[in-house]
Amino acid sequence: MSRACAKVRTGPGPGPADARRRALMLALACGGVLRGAAVAATAAPKVPILVYHRFSTQVRDTMTVRISTFEAHLALLQRMACHVIPLSAWVAWRLAWDAGDPVPLQPRTVVLTADDGHRSQFDVMAPLLRERGWPMTLFVYPSAISNADYAMTWTQLQQLADEPLFSVQSHTYWHPNLLRDQANMPPAAFRRFAADQLARSRDTLALRLGRPVTLLAWPFGLSDAGLQRQAREAGYLAACSLGNRAATPGDALFALPRQLIVDSVDAGRLATRLDAAFDDGAAS
Ligand SMILES: [Zn+2]
Repeated sequence: MSRACAKVRTGPGPGPADARRRALMLALACGGVLRGAAVAATAAPKVPILVYHRFSTQVRDTMTVRISTFEAHLALLQRMACHVIPLSAWVAWRLAWDAGDPVPLQPRTVVLTADDGHRSQFDVMAPLLRERGWPMTLFVYPSAISNADYAMTWTQLQQLADEPLFSVQSHTYWHPNLLRDQANMPPAAFRRFAADQLARSRDTLALRLGRPVTLLAWPFGLSDAGLQRQAREAGYLAACSLGNRAATPGDALFALPRQLIVDSVDAGRLATRLDAAFDDGAAS
C-alpha cells in the first residue's frame, strides 16, 4: 500500500453520494481489493478477520501468542496466497455491497487486527508485518497508553499510526464491560456513560495521532442493539465483536465477527479455519 493510499480514509459522516462513492473506491483500490481484470465478483464472500493481543517467547497468559506461532501464521497466510487487506478496505467494500453496488473482492482475503495496545505489538508484531508489507488495524483504549506498564507509549503509537501499514482505531476509552455496567446503572446514566466512552476514545486518538477514527472494537466483544445504535449515531462506520467464524455481508455492521487467535490456534488449526472460510480446499 502506498503512502498516498494511506491518506485515503472514509469519513465518519454522510456526504454527497458521488464523493462518498469516490472515497469508497479509492479505499478499495488502496486496500488491494481491486486489482486486475481476472478477479471475479464473488457471491457473499467470507473474510476471516483475525484478532491478536500480545506476543512473547512464552505463553504467559491466555491472550499471549508465542512469536514462533505468529511467524508460522504469517508463513501460512503467505503459503495460502492470502490477500491481507486493511479492515477499512473491507468496511468500504461492505458499504458498497450494502449500497447495492458491489465491487470485486480478491479471493482469499484476510483482515488482521490487534487489540489493547500491548507493547509487544510495537516490538514484535509490527516488524514482522513490515517484512511482508501487510496491514493491520490496532484497536486501542487511550487510558492505557503511556500509562499501563504493558502498553505502548503515545510516541510508539504515533510511530505506527504514521506508517501506511497501521491504522489505530477505537476500543472505547478505558475498556469497560459495557453489558455489566448497563445492568448496574440507570438507563439514562448508562447511555451517557457509553456515549462518553465512544466519543472520548475517538476524539483522543484523533487529536493525539492526527488521524481520523471511524472503526470500533467492543471491549470483550460485548455489545447489544442499543450500543450498536449508539456507535452508529456517534459517527463510527462499523464495529467489531468476537465470533469464531469469518465475516460475511450478512453480519451486522456494528457487530462484525472476529476470530480470536490464541497460542493453541497453531498453523494447522488456522489453516482449517481459513479453509472453511475460503471453501476451496486449498489450505496447507
Ligand atoms: Zn480488549
